[in-house]
Amino acid sequence: MIQVAFYDTKAYDKPSFARYGALRNVQFRFLETKLNEDTVDLAKGCDAVCVFVNDIVNDKVIAKLYAYGVKLIALRCAGYNNVDIRSAFGKVHVVHVPAYSPYAVAEHAMALLLTSVRRIHKAYNRTREFNFSLNGLTGFDFHGKTVGVIGTGKIGTIFLNICRGFGMHAIAYDRYPASDSDIEYVSLDQLFAQSDVISLHCPLTDETRHMIDASAIEKMKKGVVLVNTSRGALIDAEALLDGIKARKIGAACLDVYEEEADIFFEDRSGHILNDELLARLISMPNVIVTSHQAFLTEEALNNIAETTVGNLLSYFENDGICDNELCYRCGSIERCKKERKERCF
Ligand code: NAD
Repeated sequence: MIQVAFYDTKAYDKPSFARYGALRNVQFRFLETKLNEDTVDLAKGCDAVCVFVNDIVNDKVIAKLYAYGVKLIALRCAGYNNVDIRSAFGKVHVVHVPAYSPYAVAEHAMALLLTSVRRIHKAYNRTREFNFSLNGLTGFDFHGKTVGVIGTGKIGTIFLNICRGFGMHAIAYDRYPASDSDIEYVSLDQLFAQSDVISLHCPLTDETRHMIDASAIEKMKKGVVLVNTSRGALIDAEALLDGIKARKIGAACLDVYEEEADIFFEDRSGHILNDELLARLISMPNVIVTSHQAFLTEEALNNIAETTVGNLLSYFENDGICDNELCYRCGSIERCKKERKERCF
């Protein structure tokens, strides 16, 4: 039986993981707490830890996991900016779920965009109170507008095609543009200058951190709608707020927020929100915030559990070789070991 400490458990995680785990001899120890330096001891005696986007897997946590004999860090998400993979190299292997439902995220991005532009959130509240006035609810047609997609991987490409379905003109920027696609790539500055809607679908890296800052916002069209379902720190939230107050940003649709780690995924309705910036953003009539919800569909939850259990079995029952292994060298050196069907280290 493979023993796994499952950190940051939510009620919606348990059914799918318990079901797939029981089928394949994997036992999950469901823990409500997040993984960090104070909680890493709970992984003692386990073969692996299973973590999510806001668990902190830094060098100190990795050193302790290594000392406790934990062999594998299994991320149950795609992004891995919260794991120090350089420090894990040579100590603890890291696997992730590269794709579980890119449709879930792309469709949520469009749901946020439609809600915001057509003021559905306002209309919903009004009609519940029998207020049938239309004043202040004017939106704009998507048809004929330009959408700029930053990052044309799995999610970005699906979102781009959804936008095309609305008759939008789609342009894109990617650090590594797809060579075999019909996507119209432009420079980042051209995308900022031409887009009526900008949607972010690239990973958070040192290079992309705060890629939407004051100078980027300066280059955008007045009234631009920003959508972020990727990672919060892609946007400098202070600069976003300034852009909104200056009436430069027409609307912002945020599923992620830079300082979300201690706020999102929990019911904080009975507490005073200490994050002034988030509180101010939420108070804006043209900002919609969902709390990192874009992935949350039945299909995605099942795929996440199935792939994570598959990753654990590949690692523990297949000589440690797993296609979904991550290391800081993967893709960055010639003839990466994983591409030769070997372990990363
Ligand atoms: P992907 O790897 O398929 O695509 C990422 C794309 O970004 C690639 O085409 C890559 O070339 C491009 N890219 C890399 N560096 C770039 C840069 N500096 N500038 C512009 N483009 C760059 O990833 P994906 O599955 O499409 O996921 C995209 C992001 O969505 C993830 O990194 C993750 O942070 C986020 N995500 C969010 C949720 C959610 O629930 N909100 C769920 C899943 C993923």
